[in-house]
Amino acid sequence: MPNAAKSLEVLAQWVAIVDPASLRIEWCTTALAERHPQWRAGGPLAAVTDGFRGLAGLLERARTAGLTEAVLAAPDGSPIGAQAGADDTGLIHLRLTDLRADQQAAARHLNDREQLLLVSRSLSVGEMATTLAHELNQPIGAIANLLRGLLARIDRDTLDPGAVRPAIQRGVEHAMYAGGIIARVRDYVAHRQPKAETIALRAMVDDALSLLDWETERDGVRVLVTVDPKAAEVQVRGDRVLQQQVVVNLVRNAIEAMRSLPQSDRYLEISIGLDEDSAVLGIADRGPGIDDDAAARMFTPFFTTKPGGMGVGLHVCRSIVELQQGRLWFTRGPGPGCTFWVTLPRALAPEELPA
Ligand code: ADP
Repeated sequence: MPNAAKSLEVLAQWVAIVDPASLRIEWCTTALAERHPQWRAGGPLAAVTDGFRGLAGLLERARTAGLTEAVLAAPDGSPIGAQAGADDTGLIHLRLTDLRADQQAAARHLNDREQLLLVSRSLSVGEMATTLAHELNQPIGAIANLLRGLLARIDRDTLDPGAVRPAIQRGVEHAMYAGGIIARVRDYVAHRQPKAETIALRAMVDDALSLLDWETERDGVRVLVTVDPKAAEVQVRGDRVLQQQVVVNLVRNAIEAMRSLPQSDRYLEISIGLDEDSAVLGIADRGPGIDDDAAARMFTPFFTTKPGGMGVGLHVCRSIVELQQGRLWFTRGPGPGCTFWVTLPRALAPEELPA
């Protein structure tokens, strides 16, 4: 078997060669014959042109007009993508693809992604904080208005005692509503107990990066992941979703820090290594870095230098990492930018556990 044909077999491609002169199927790959037994090397062409709707027309066009494509219907009705072209001896080469399997794979991929986004979105610190701020703003604003109104009337000496009670009652309702929002968040946090899972660090980091791929693409950030060979398979302990949230927040900060640079200078370097019983993750950017003032206040809640920033990301990231018995800190190098470091306790393999 020539090498090219062997590759097609190994890759389980659906490929065939037919001879319109002798009306025979010259050759086809095993994968095609196994899935659609009408395709048989040496078999009659009519067996496939009868079974696959659209094939006869495609072969005719390939013979007369060169390379051509169509969507065929297999005998079981499933859609088959087909490309066909004639060679200089008149044989027609065909490549078929199972469109239903492709569509299913694409849908599965989308589902996984959406699922991931959903999980991590529901936990996104920034989003939760923004929603909370937004929801609380309204009742607190209403209470402030009611109190201001009452004060103004007292000052003008126009306070009608009959109007005071309903105003205070409305204030109480708004306060109860705000309390309800906070209780909902507390419930949410209480029910989401962190899990103690064994997590493949590299895969977790890759998943976090893929959640941000449109942002890295949009900003033209080149991402380089380097893994110490000793840490290639490293597993850590903790809650996967929370850890992913930390990576997403740190990487997003790094991307945002590099917005002031020309696109060609935007490099994000992620490193995975080992340090005794911990795995070490480094996230290095080449942004403007961190001045002394920011360095001192960085982890303080609501410290932000961004116009739309909430300033809670780093604070929460550090709490999450420490909850998982890890550490989060940053270093400022001699060069531009800064590096955020996360250590997470390794999940030891059974043979590594102390006797
Ligand atoms: P936010 O991103 O909403 O501002 P964070 O708590 O994540 O909240 O970050 C707080 C501040 O720390 C940022 O506003 C920024 O000034 C600084 N910071 C965070 N990451 C970096 C970084 N990679 N480079 C420079 N400054 C950073």
